[in-house]
Parts: sequence; C-alpha cells; structure tokens
Amino acid sequence: MTSRYQSLPGRAPGFTYQHSRRGLLRTKGPLVLHCEDLSMTTLAEKFGTPLYVYSGETITAHHLAFDRAFRDIHHTICYSVKANSNLSILRLLARKGCGFDVVSGGELERVMTADRRAAKRVVFSGVGKTREEITAALKAGILLFNIESESELWALAECAGRLRTKAPVAFRVNPDVAAETHPYISTGLHKHKFGVPVSEARALYAEASGVRYLRVRGVSVHIGSQITDAGPFGEAMSRVADLVRELRRDGHEIDYVDAGGGLGISYDQPPAGTFPQQVAAYAAALVKPLRDLKIHLLLEPGRSIVGPAGALLTSIVYKKSNNGKKFLIVDAAMNDLIRPALYGAFHEIIPVTLHTDQIAKSETTDIVGPVCETGDFFARDRTLPVLEEGDLLAILDAGAYGMALASNYNTRPRPAEVLVSGKSAKLIRRREKISDLLRQEL
Ligand SMILES: *Cc1c(COP(=O)(O)O)cnc(C)c1O
Repeated sequence: MTSRYQSLPGRAPGFTYQHSRRGLLRTKGPLVLHCEDLSMTTLAEKFGTPLYVYSGETITAHHLAFDRAFRDIHHTICYSVKANSNLSILRLLARKGCGFDVVSGGELERVMTADRRAAKRVVFSGVGKTREEITAALKAGILLFNIESESELWALAECAGRLRTKAPVAFRVNPDVAAETHPYISTGLHKHKFGVPVSEARALYAEASGVRYLRVRGVSVHIGSQITDAGPFGEAMSRVADLVRELRRDGHEIDYVDAGGGLGISYDQPPAGTFPQQVAAYAAALVKPLRDLKIHLLLEPGRSIVGPAGALLTSIVYKKSNNGKKFLIVDAAMNDLIRPALYGAFHEIIPVTLHTDQIAKSETTDIVGPVCETGDFFARDRTLPVLEEGDLLAILDAGAYGMALASNYNTRPRPAEVLVSGKSAKLIRRREKISDLLRQEL
C-alpha cells in the first residue's frame, strides 16, 4: 500500500481506509474507505451517488475542541449555519449546547425547527436584514443583532418599538485588517461591504444608546473565511479591545465581544498539528488582547466544525481521452459542490477501494462533472491509481459550503445526505426528484 493514501485521511479523521473482509473465512480484502465504522461502498449501494456523507463524531469532536480551547474565558460557540444548514446537523450541535450564527430569516427558522430553545443562543449577522427578518428574530428572543449600518440600526429600532421590546445590539466593525484568503471570502477591509468603520463606531454607539428600544450589548468583528494564520485574528481582536475600552469610558455596557468565524482548514496537505492544537493557537491569539476586559466571547466557526467532517461520494460514469488528455467523468457536478468552480478551490480526491494491483499503476487525469460548463471540474491533472468506470471516488473536506451552496443548475436534483455515527447511517436529506424541481413552476 502506498503511504500516501494511508496518511491522507489523517486530515479528515472520520474517514479512514480499512480492510474489507470477505467470504466465510473473512479473508482480508482490499482497503476500503470508511466513514467511522461504515464502508463507503455500502453507503453508495444503500443511498446511491452522488451522496454527501458526514461523520457525526468529527462534528462533535470539533465543537468540543473549540469549547476546550476557550475554557479559560466565558464563551458561547455560535456555529455558523450557512456552512452547512442541515436540520440534523443543527440538532446534533444544539444538543451539545451550541448556539448559532444566522444570516437570514430562513436560517433562523432552521434553528427554531431544530431546537426552539436554542433561540437564546442565536446571533444574527448580515448587511441586509429585512424588517420581516428582524421582527421574526425579535419575537424569537435572540441573543444579539450584529448591526452593519446606521440605516439598519433605525430599522431595528422601529421593529423593536412596534413590539414594545428592547433589541440587543452590537455593531459589526470593520477593523481594516488584511487576511490571506481568497478575495471573495475576505471581508475585513474598508473596500468590503461589511461592517462599520472603527472610526465611526463611537458615534453610532452613542446614537444607539439614546434609543429606548435598543440595548447596547457588544462589539462584533468577522474578517473573512478560510484564514489559516492566527495573526490577523489577533490583530483584529486588539483593535476591538481598544474600542471596547473607549466605549466603556463613554459609559456603554459592553458585555459581549463577537469574534466571528473564519478559522481555515487544510484542504491540500496535512495540517501542522492536530485540530485541537490548531484551535488552541487560534484561541491564544484571540484571548490575549481580551484578557483584562472580563467580556463574554462569542465565536462563530462554520467551516472548521463541519468541513473535514464531510465527503462527497461520487461514481465514475465514463473515462475518456481527448488527444491524450484524460478525463474521469463522475456523476457529481459543480451544482453539487461549487467550490472548485467558484474559488478554484482544491479538494483531495481519493478512490474508495484500493486494489493492490491498481495502486502500482497511476495516471494523470482531470475529474469533471457532466454539466455544460468548462468550469465544471473537481480536479485538474490529478494523479490517481488507474480506475475504471463504475469505481467510486470520495471528494474530501466537503462538509462546509458544499451542500449549502448546491443548486439545481442543469435541472440536476441535489444529492442525498447521510449522517454516520459509528455503525449507523441516518438519511438526513432525501435525494431530490425531478418532480420536486418542477413543482414550483406554473
Ligand atoms: C460566514 C461567516 C462565518 C463563518 O465563517 P467560517 O469561515 O465558515 O468559519 C461567521 N460569521 C459571519 C458573520 C459569517 O459571515
């Protein structure tokens, strides 16, 4: 066996190769990729492909790693629902006492459906909250509104006034910190649409505290996503800490600091250290500037909780070669997982079954879907063992911004999702049917 395949799943601990056993004598068969204790081959047979497979153990372990890393400071983890909003995943996290970061009325409704009691641990972010969404969140009794403009503040005050209630407010400040990530998911610079400039924050807090239906509670920040260096997080947090001191001097009660999400994961190589070690480094950077402030820290991780916990299982439909350029055409496509097409993102792709004789031979190939777009690829010039039509592939680290960004482009029904826990697999979303897609149309 090549050590490459043995070591790869170290990044996604829920996915490991194990020898299959066959026949009455249970002789050792080929190595087969498993999610926890279930073989991906069995899952493909039972649920079909393309299929999103999640390791429940990984999700809860990553949530626990956050909880432990921040044990020395009062904190609430508010999982960012937009990374993966499946109700069963929300329920799994809610049962662990997790809170939620929502960016729409729809996401709030998902949280309420998963666990109504979690509403008091919900923070509401986003630049364009409508009055309907604000009103629903006020009625639900959420923990905090992260406000991103003066206009939005007045909309919140108006909605709260109508309900004769007091809305808990934080402003999301834009710390003007550059973070190394893809430009589409970097959010902490002045040129981005997010937050209010730190220089204008004091005036806005003064305005908010004069309104009867608003209660100033905290300061929020979120500098972007897929950030793997702790430096920018620490930098943003020290600007926030300075602002908290100023605001307190101005007489505001600042109990909460919301640090946002954004901790990156390793898509292309084994990370430096285990996940708990990575979170510990992140925690150290965040907590240091806040040490003497006695605040309650809110955290909004999304990708780092669910990303490595999910794989997209797909099967090879055809092999073809155009003038020597090789392609594996699989039954998943950009509508199921758009990250490679949208961000040029890298995903590790591994065969589900490793036959000893296959591993010896390898070939370089593109892995593409059936959608009519050149951007419909999962990998280019990837070296894999020689595979055949009908073989299964696993696209790793697909648990975050995978299914959540899936669409029906090319009138393709979205995949089913299963949540694995030890030896059991639960279908948590049925595969769509074409009739589901046509139903809305007149
Ligand atoms: C997207 C987002 C998050 C989650 O980001 P991850 O990179 O998935 O951790 C958290 N907070 C806000 C405000 C967001 O927009």
